[in-house]
Amino acid sequence: MQMPVTDPATGLEIGSVAVAQSDDVARAVDAASQAFATWSRVPVVERARLMLRYADALERRHGEIARSVSRENGKTIADARAEARRGIEAVEFACGMPSLMMGDALSDVARGVDSMSVRYPLGVCIGITPFNFPSMIPLWMFPIAIAAGNTFVLKPSPQTPLTAELLAQVAREAKFPDGVLNVVHGGVDTVNALIDHPRVAAVSFVGSSSVAKLVHERAVQARKRVQALGGAKNYLIVMPDGVKQSSVDAIVSSAFGGAGQRCLAGSVVVAVGNAGERLVPMLVEAARGLRLGCGLDANTDMGPVISHEAIARIDGYVERGQKSGATLALAPDPAARDAKGSFLAPVIFDRVDPGSELAREEIFGPVLAVVRVSTLEEAIDLANASRYGNASSIFTSDGGSARTFSNRIEVGMVGVNIGVAAPMSFFPFGGVKDSIFGDLRCHGKDGVAFYTQQRVIVSRWP
Ligand code: NAD
Repeated sequence: MQMPVTDPATGLEIGSVAVAQSDDVARAVDAASQAFATWSRVPVVERARLMLRYADALERRHGEIARSVSRENGKTIADARAEARRGIEAVEFACGMPSLMMGDALSDVARGVDSMSVRYPLGVCIGITPFNFPSMIPLWMFPIAIAAGNTFVLKPSPQTPLTAELLAQVAREAKFPDGVLNVVHGGVDTVNALIDHPRVAAVSFVGSSSVAKLVHERAVQARKRVQALGGAKNYLIVMPDGVKQSSVDAIVSSAFGGAGQRCLAGSVVVAVGNAGERLVPMLVEAARGLRLGCGLDANTDMGPVISHEAIARIDGYVERGQKSGATLALAPDPAARDAKGSFLAPVIFDRVDPGSELAREEIFGPVLAVVRVSTLEEAIDLANASRYGNASSIFTSDGGSARTFSNRIEVGMVGVNIGVAAPMSFFPFGGVKDSIFGDLRCHGKDGVAFYTQQRVIVSRWP
């Protein structure tokens, strides 16, 4: 069965992929499993050399990858280029695998006894990815897994599967051996068949928290290693000394970049003291100036959301938000609506109740809530009461406030005068609480630890 892929800016079909049936899943895992037998024995410097070729090939196709991302996801071409850049950086990180995989050694742990730890690959790893970063998130996973000696089956989002196909095509051109990287398409049934397959050793997932929880539970039940990154509600705390144009630009870009469909989107501004008085009019003015349009148009500041279903979900939040008593500081512009494309103009609510769903639930669209509080302590307590803990930022010119915030805020990624505390491939990326199920995060040293197992060898040579 073919699954159509739609351009969210036009509503037009731009391609299709075949949904994997159970024997397709079995074939992909078999191919990966057979390839593992030889690939895992290829010296790590040769595996790293393959990644160098892949990074180079991706670099040459950077523009094409960005256009593919923008077309099927809707985000602006500048945003798409930036996400592809972050993805290529993850491949560059994987090129360092000979050093990254190194173990430790200690001679004479006892008389005549030496000890060393060595890292080995796991086997067949799978990756299940969301729609919002069609190139970057797959590239967080398979290059590191493969450079470490594993083989991989990728199951991208059904809403943005074409870029994954392009990444696999570039991999073939870079001469990935057969079976080392495989791509299958589909939804729940495909994911479940992959997780349950006895020859799958590890599961990487990025998506919503409800699905992350299900995937984590199923994988643990099947005794697989699993990392499942979930959703987010990210609080941007603005101190009175942080109200300035650069903060406003960073907040507007964080809240409305990617049409608010980023796991790092700042979706609640917590205005401390009198910060809200000056900040809210500045936010409204900047958000009102955003030009909506097709992401591929260089003049566009904000593209469409992913689908009409997403619009219906976001509309529900906006309607309930209005009924909740919050002040609509920037009302949704009905002129932005388009019968074909799934466009939605930015919305800003002020004086939002900190306990309301506007302040607590992941809306995943261009809706920003402003909550006003009296002190920094109150702002941090409000953010820490969230079920999520992906990212949070403070805007201030005071080092003491920044330090208190960084020490007390309960999130995985902390920003100081930064709208999006973005993932950098050489550091681990992920959150805490319901933003992650499992402990090891994506890429950085965590990524290497996740895709390898350690063996400790103790030897005595008389
Ligand atoms: P999603 O959870 O709907 O889908 C993610 C993947 O899971 C897709 O490949 C999908 O086919 C599959 N899937 C969906 N339902 C499933 C089920 N019941 N069982 C098994 N697999 C299932 O997420 P999405 O809408 O594609 O992406 C948006 C979400 O992802 C947001 O919540 C966002 O915060 C989150 N996200 C998190 C991060 C992070 O790093 N923490 C990064 C990007 C996106």
